[in-house]
Amino acid sequence: MTFRFLALSSVLVLLCPAASSLAAERPPRIVVDPGHGGDQGGATSPTGLLEKEVSLQIARRVREHLEKDLAAQVLMTRDEDQSLPLPERVSFANKQRPDLFLSIHCNAMPTKRTRARVQGIETYFLSASASNDTARAAADRENAEAPTAREARGDSTLAFILQDLARTEAHQDSSRLAYAVHQKLIAATGGSNRGVLQAPFYVLNGVEAPAILIEVGYISHPEEGGRLGRAEYQEQLATAISEGVRAFLAEVRRRDAPKSPAVAAPATP
Ligand SMILES: [Zn+2]
Repeated sequence: MTFRFLALSSVLVLLCPAASSLAAERPPRIVVDPGHGGDQGGATSPTGLLEKEVSLQIARRVREHLEKDLAAQVLMTRDEDQSLPLPERVSFANKQRPDLFLSIHCNAMPTKRTRARVQGIETYFLSASASNDTARAAADRENAEAPTAREARGDSTLAFILQDLARTEAHQDSSRLAYAVHQKLIAATGGSNRGVLQAPFYVLNGVEAPAILIEVGYISHPEEGGRLGRAEYQEQLATAISEGVRAFLAEVRRRDAPKSPAVAAPATP
């Protein structure tokens, strides 16, 4: 019985080398991806603040917190105002073999009426089809820079790549990561909770690690757009993201920690 249990444990550990290395408590390696850059400004606030600037400022603060609070090794897809195609962000991330990937963006509404009204935080993980119209619009906007934007927008085109996604451990962990980070963001900022959503984001597709895209707020909203540019609010967001990552890593480590037979034995009748 004990031997069987040990044998099974060994097989599980062998099958999950990434998980077992995480459980060993080495410093987590995290890729942080500030949206847009260079000639791609992203969305704009009513006062002319650009998403590419805000996303980089927040990403740098996230890096600082992850390094300080979690002793993480953080790699940025960009650390200056440069154009960086979406496929290069994905291939950079995969070369680092990270434990997780965070893409940071600001949201925007298209019309004067909705710009004045809609604000709040959305956290995304990848799926072939969007959760709702909001999620579809966000993915369309963020995918606009993709080399084949038309294809990236079509659910049916992405579907074949994503067919068995739901079965992969990384995808389930992306969902866990999204909920962990989102919960901390809402609690820390008191921002309007627009939920954890799913959509076919180009930059999340193909990342071989738990990966999320955080729309930290609507830069198009008169008040939230202003807040997003302020250092104090950016610090709140960055601290919350770091705490969310910490909660996620703790959950994964607990789950993946090898169970000792001594602990398992009393449960057997
Ligand atoms: Zn964006």
